[in-house]
Amino acid sequence: MNLSVDQARLVSEIETLTTFSDADPPAVTRVVFTPADLRARSWIKDRCEEAGLVVRRDPIGNTFARWPGSDATAPIVGTGSHIDAIPNAGKYDGTVGVLGGLEAIRALKAAGFRPKHSIELLIFTSEEPTRFGIGCLGSRLLAGTLSAENAKKLSDGEGATVDEVRLKAGMSGTIDEVKLPAGYYKAFVELHIEQGPLLERERIPLGVVERIAAPASLRLTFEGAGGHAGGVLMPDRKDALCAAAEVILALEHAAKSSGAIDTVATVGICDVFPGAVNSIPARVRLSVDIRDTNLDRRDRMMKTLEEVCRSIEARRGVVIHSELLNADAPADSGTGVISALIQACRKHGFPFLPMTSRAYHDSLFISRIAPVAMLFIPCRNGYSHRPDEYASPDDIARGTLVLAEALATLAE
Ligand SMILES: [Zn+2]
Repeated sequence: MNLSVDQARLVSEIETLTTFSDADPPAVTRVVFTPADLRARSWIKDRCEEAGLVVRRDPIGNTFARWPGSDATAPIVGTGSHIDAIPNAGKYDGTVGVLGGLEAIRALKAAGFRPKHSIELLIFTSEEPTRFGIGCLGSRLLAGTLSAENAKKLSDGEGATVDEVRLKAGMSGTIDEVKLPAGYYKAFVELHIEQGPLLERERIPLGVVERIAAPASLRLTFEGAGGHAGGVLMPDRKDALCAAAEVILALEHAAKSSGAIDTVATVGICDVFPGAVNSIPARVRLSVDIRDTNLDRRDRMMKTLEEVCRSIEARRGVVIHSELLNADAPADSGTGVISALIQACRKHGFPFLPMTSRAYHDSLFISRIAPVAMLFIPCRNGYSHRPDEYASPDDIARGTLVLAEALATLAE
């Protein structure tokens, strides 16, 4: 089979998709179920139908475009990504996997390939947490890791529930129908920009993702005692911010000494009350994000954090409340899917780097119900989620070609 990817068409489609946006180019803002998102969805649906694919949409708006295989009962080989974009984002995050997936299918069709397993392009709803405060809404529901009941409790910044928003956007059915039946997929592959600097730095054009890290997020609240910055003497203080500072540094130390480069911990938010120059901090709220590719190691970090909090509480006379917001498990890629990608790289003589995805993606949740792997292409300076995000046409086309080869291997 001689596969060829239409690079010019693919790049021009990425440019066209960029025009469905609420930001001035080159920035892209496309929040789920806004008019810009709905226009983009309808444009992509037309492209899929033009390519002869059968398009269906589930009640949360996940869109499936199927190329039926010769065995209608065989499990599906899936590919895809997302088209929603956080405010002031770039053109390539997610869209490369959607339009690259479509182009891969068109290339296979043009080469005369006849799949045994149906190949299906999937456009996930709301990979970004912008609107409902939770990432990967569509894939969590597909995999059943988020129940319909809990999804219905989510609302956006204006207080509109997921159900209100999706019904207004024209989706029908109930969220209970979104979960995929067991055994739906044979395999799933997601093409994506790396969103990190390694491929560019190593001058390697492709990354085969062997594992996806997953975050645990917590909110810590420190209750101390306020007072006048002049009046309360040092031995008498219960300064909530000093206690929080100790926890932050202990967390950094624990991550650095975990023994693995994949362990990372971040405190990104620190709210101080009452927040006055001459007032002792009485209360502090911290956000904590701990990520790892290994669940045991990450759980050990969480336990260390807990122990540190208890010892600082005792020593400083403050009270520390800890609230677990989420703790998704990391995932290993499926060996068969990794092999299909490696075989495709080798066939074309493309060097590749075995990698870890430190950001999480819809594939993390699809991994709960199917063997998955991801294919990364370089992006300039590792920039993502910003308007100057950039992936070169050659890199996008190369990734698409490898994706097409892998889909063929998996679907024959
Ligand atoms: Zn993405």
